[in-house]
This record gives sequence, C-alpha cells and structure tokens, in this order.
Amino acid sequence: MLKINNLHSAYNKIEVLHGISMTVPKNRLVVVIGRNGAGKSTLLKTISGLVKIKSGSITFDGEPLPSAPHKIVGKGVVHVPEGRRIFPSLTVEENLLMGGYLTKGSEFDECKQAVFDFFPVLKDRRHQQAGTLSGGEQQMLAMGRGLMGKPKLLLLDEPSLGLAPIVFGQVFDLIENLRDQGEMTILLVEQNASVALQLADYAYVLEDGQITMEGKGSDCLHNPKVKEAYLGA
Ligand code: ATP
Repeated sequence: MLKINNLHSAYNKIEVLHGISMTVPKNRLVVVIGRNGAGKSTLLKTISGLVKIKSGSITFDGEPLPSAPHKIVGKGVVHVPEGRRIFPSLTVEENLLMGGYLTKGSEFDECKQAVFDFFPVLKDRRHQQAGTLSGGEQQMLAMGRGLMGKPKLLLLDEPSLGLAPIVFGQVFDLIENLRDQGEMTILLVEQNASVALQLADYAYVLEDGQITMEGKGSDCLHNPKVKEAYLGA
C-alpha cells in the first residue's frame, strides 16, 4: 500500500535520509525504531509532505503521493506528529472538528463517538480549552484528532513520549485495537522499542538516515543486535 523507494530528503542542503526503501502493506502495523536523531520524524514528515523529497519516490495505493500536504491528507494519509501538536486555544471538541473536516455527517458523529468511547476523559472535557489538558490528555486528543480523519494510513510519531504508565498503556491499547480491527494501515515511529516490536507485524531499524535491519516484529525483538542497542539487554 505504501511503498518508499530509495528516498533521500534534506533540510536545506543537509541530507538526513540517505536512500530509504520500505513497504507498509495494507492493514498492517509497521514500526520504525531508532535512536534520537536517526531520522524517524523526518521520514514521517517526508511522507506527509512537510519535508520535500530530494530524490526517490513514495507511492500510495499504486500512485505517487501528491507533494502538497493537504492533498496527501485528502488521500487518507494522516500524520499525528511528535509533541502533541493540538490547537491549544480551541476546545477538545473543536480540535476533533478540525481533524474531521473531510469526514461527512453521520460518519463524523460515528468517529467522534468512537474517540470518546476509547478516551472517555475527552468526552468529559469536550468543552475545555485543549491547551489546559494534561500532557497525557493532549496525546489522547492528538491521536483522537488524527482518527477523526478516517485515515487509510496513520503515521504515528512517538505517541508514548513523556506519558505516565497508565496513559502509556491506554495509548498502546488503542494502537493494538486499531491493529486488531485490521482496517487501518499504521506506520509507527517509537523509541520504546520493546512495546512497539511486540505489536509490530514488521519492523525497520533506522540508523543515521539508513535502514540497517528489517524483519518481523517478533524476530527483531529477539535479534541480539536489536536487544543490545535498543532493549538494554
Ligand atoms: P528523535 O527520536 O530525537 O525525535 P528522530 O529520529 O525523529 O529523533 P529527526 O527529528 O528526524 O530524528 O532528525 C534527524 C536529523 O535531522 C537530526 O540531526 C536533526 O537535527 C535534523 N533536523 C530535524 N529537523 C530539522 C530542521 N527543521 N532543520 C534542520 N535539521 C533538522
């Protein structure tokens, strides 16, 4: 479904991704792990059009992805960025509305209900200004807002960052749930390699802008090099 071929991208003249090739099959959960600065966020930003492609290609459903971010969203590719970039001065409900601007009528209400069912605290706080939510609640809102766009492909950037254990559990329960429903393709970038690899159908290790290893999530989890470098074993 998503196919990346020999992708190079750069900030001004400094190249950060040096020839990435990867595939994310339909309705699968694929994880990218890697150290700080490896280029994980840049990879997601390049897919969602926020960073321009220098060379190489990205195809989605067999067609090249458009270059403008809003057109990429229109194709069903939704990016939940690192750092809970919600709209702080809008209410919880207004944030969800922004996420669902392409979702019509009853579908919008169904999506909103599904988000509230999964994160009841967002329903309780639906009239609250989003900037006043706790960090964990803001992460739930960022994910909820992403789901309001009924994504075909969901790009999740470090959703566990800075979360307390209970909220961390809730966020990963949601990811597991989405994977088990088998109706959404998910590309997850995560530093918490152990949890991410347990959930992953397939995984890639990114080091200094290059893929250095790939395999089934369970195989990577038991790979001695991954264990030593990313699992503290
Ligand atoms: P982390 O896990 O710390 O978020 P990451 O793997 O997501 O790291 P990136 O954020 O993709 O890494 O950064 C990769 C490299 O690109 C880093 O060296 C970073 O300094 C650089 N970089 C990121 N954003 C920019 C930018 N806007 N301008 C210039 N360089 C950037």
